[in-house]
Amino acid sequence: MEKHSLEASTGATPYRITVIRGDGTGPELTDVTLKVLEATGVRFVWDIFDAGENIIEQYSEPLPDHVVQSIRKNKVCLKGPITTPVGTGFRSINVRLRRDLDCYANVRPAKTYPGVRSRYDKIDLVIIRENIEDLYAGIEFEMGKPETAELIAFIESKINPVRNDVSNGIKKRIRTDAGISIKPISVFGAERILRYAFDYARAHGRKKVSAVHKANIMKFTDGLFLAAARRVAAEYPDIRFEDVIVDNMCMQLVQKPELYDVLVCPNLYGDIISDLASGLVGGLGLTPGANIGDDYAIFEAVHGSAPKYAGMNKVNPTAMILAGKMMLEHLGEQDAASALEAAVAAVIKKGQDVTYDLKPNREDPTAVGTREMGQAVIRELHRLEGR
Ligand code: NAD
Repeated sequence: MEKHSLEASTGATPYRITVIRGDGTGPELTDVTLKVLEATGVRFVWDIFDAGENIIEQYSEPLPDHVVQSIRKNKVCLKGPITTPVGTGFRSINVRLRRDLDCYANVRPAKTYPGVRSRYDKIDLVIIRENIEDLYAGIEFEMGKPETAELIAFIESKINPVRNDVSNGIKKRIRTDAGISIKPISVFGAERILRYAFDYARAHGRKKVSAVHKANIMKFTDGLFLAAARRVAAEYPDIRFEDVIVDNMCMQLVQKPELYDVLVCPNLYGDIISDLASGLVGGLGLTPGANIGDDYAIFEAVHGSAPKYAGMNKVNPTAMILAGKMMLEHLGEQDAASALEAAVAAVIKKGQDVTYDLKPNREDPTAVGTREMGQAVIRELHRLEGR
């Protein structure tokens, strides 16, 4: 059962969007973002739900089926961040949603906006992360369980004693007190995300795609990803292609990020590199993301629920608002998307009505709250539209 539906006030046929407010700072960020999106003049009907820790008591689980059914019906979802307990408790709702709805492409732009305190000023990266496979597939074997012992025994029995077992006199064995996570990377999954990245580059006038991997060590998974990247790159002669080993990519991004354009990564590297890229452009408060599949799309911030700031009206709404901008683009509302980005950029450039993380001194008493920064974006939208 949905929590409630709200309809924005003006315009023609409204878009019906599933909204998951999330937990931690999620609800306050989502509420501000809905108001900003309504101020673009595009009409929406919001089907609003909660998910996460707060609703487990009511529904016995953090992501009830009716929420997923709503996304299946509406096709588009705007989602606040949701806490995932570390080590124990329920599995990540974020990972589950992406997998169940096969939203295989995680698109995470990282761009410098004038006015942001950052060492760099010309970054315009898009990280395209494979969202379903790799170590996020959720295939894990817990230390000490019988099935883990069985798996270890099976792997031991398959190790080729000549080729793999002894290297420089050291036996490659899995200890019996090990936990194991499985890293599947398939030809299908790799080619699909690589084609998405090259198509994205073409559609957005971008010049270069860099495939990120660690194929020198993981020959059968990252090696497969790299081989697929080379095959797919050959289908796009108009786009420059290179491959970069993930550790080198981190160093390169810190030293000369302006040299990079579209990065395409297996799941784990994409997650880490997009946080790194957020740091380059001024922090997690600024970077949005889209989870795109053939049928469904979920828009959210790169950052998590920042629980220590929950309910304080403190954190930066920009990442979530820019996720809304990506949603407008997905809906074909390009003018509204451009206006919204211009309004956000103007507020950041003025540097007045911005949250603490965008002030040169984080203790600056003139920093405004989440709601007030959202209101400044709305004022700027109205000013830009001459209303
Ligand atoms: P986080 O992104 O929530 O926060 C880390 C720090 O980044 C915060 O303490 C804060 O200093 C800063 N930050 C984050 N968002 C900000 C904003 N909007 N404005 C200003 N500063 C901001 O990372 P975490 O603490 O590692 O994760 C908290 C929870 O969120 C975890 O349970 C994690 O699993 C979950 N998470 C959810 C998502 C998602 O919903 N898609 C993504 C990442 C993490």
